[in-house]
Amino acid sequence: MLQQAEYIWLDGRKPLQRLRSKTRIIPETSGIPRIEDLPVWSFDGSSTYQSDGHNSDLLLQPVNVIRDPIRGDGNFLVMCEVLNEDGTAHWSNERAKLRELLESRGGAALEPWFGFEQEYVFFDGNRPLGWPENGYPPPQGPFYCGVGPNQVYGRAIVEAHTKACLEAGIMIYGINAEVMPAQWEFQIGYRGIDGESAGPLNIGDHLWLARWLLFRIGEDYGVEAVLASKPVEGDWNGSGQHTNFSTKETRDPKTGMEAIQRYIKQFEGKHADHIKVYGEGLEKRLTGLHETCAIDQFKSGVADRGASIRIPRQVATNGYGYIEDRRPGANANPYQIAYRMIATVLGLD
Ligand code: ADP
Ligand code: MN
Ligand code: MN
Ligand code: MN
Repeated sequence: MLQQAEYIWLDGRKPLQRLRSKTRIIPETSGIPRIEDLPVWSFDGSSTYQSDGHNSDLLLQPVNVIRDPIRGDGNFLVMCEVLNEDGTAHWSNERAKLRELLESRGGAALEPWFGFEQEYVFFDGNRPLGWPENGYPPPQGPFYCGVGPNQVYGRAIVEAHTKACLEAGIMIYGINAEVMPAQWEFQIGYRGIDGESAGPLNIGDHLWLARWLLFRIGEDYGVEAVLASKPVEGDWNGSGQHTNFSTKETRDPKTGMEAIQRYIKQFEGKHADHIKVYGEGLEKRLTGLHETCAIDQFKSGVADRGASIRIPRQVATNGYGYIEDRRPGANANPYQIAYRMIATVLGLD
């Protein structure tokens, strides 16, 4: 039987790019097709904020393919880069900029690994799922990692999403209910399993594919997963995208802590440049309250959840490992976050 490949890409919306996708019928293959066997495909860039109407054809270049858990066996999800008609990278193609940094400007030699903690909030219409029609649920406190019908809202969707990620082969690391009711987190990244790539291209692709699955599964439940930095004003946690980062030298017991301290200094010097690409509405979340450091401050510390950069307790004890950048917001583009962190370590603009 012929098979379906869902081509997924990022549009040119500002300030935040959004996911788009369309379905291509492909010949039957046994197993997952090789990326080079998937055809380049065109689309109408004038309908995605990517070109004007007069010259609107853009190209979808497949760059990563996984199983499609929604349509099932024999169908695939295909992450694509957007190219101009002449095959050069389109201005909206942040992945190509990251690829170039890795391949031509020294990024790959660092052997960077990533892990993104994606927080989000389920919305049912204009209020968070399960919240009373009038007024608010009880104050935050009992909900984080809670269990029970009045503790968490939307577990069935979370379970469906986790199962879908596993079936797809996405590098999902874990999930948890978050501090605000109807808020959840999943992590995509390094998980110590042999044969997996925790490099920023693969992990960035997997995070976008996991987001696509979350939105797609949300259609079946009539529930929207919202990635806004501060979805509900007031004494409610915002949604972040803590970014865990290591390199060959931070993971090496001989150089680890020295490299970690050096990176933190570099990050401090480039704080404003990082904030620029760490998401929209960040100033509403990075207030110094709710487990954040204020947006105009830079702090680092061991096990400090009010810091910009946290050194996990275990890493401090071991003297090597990874650091957690707690600044990125839930709606930031992981390709841009990874680009900025690697460029800072390389001393590049
Ligand atoms: P937290 O305690 O901050 O909630 P989580 O358990 O939610 O942390 O997430 C841990 C994250 O750290 C995961 O995304 C995982 O992939 C990532 N991680 C673990 N080890 C490394 C490493 N060596 N390099 C980069 N990321 C790592
Ligand atoms: Mn976490
Ligand atoms: Mn969290
Ligand atoms: Mn974290």
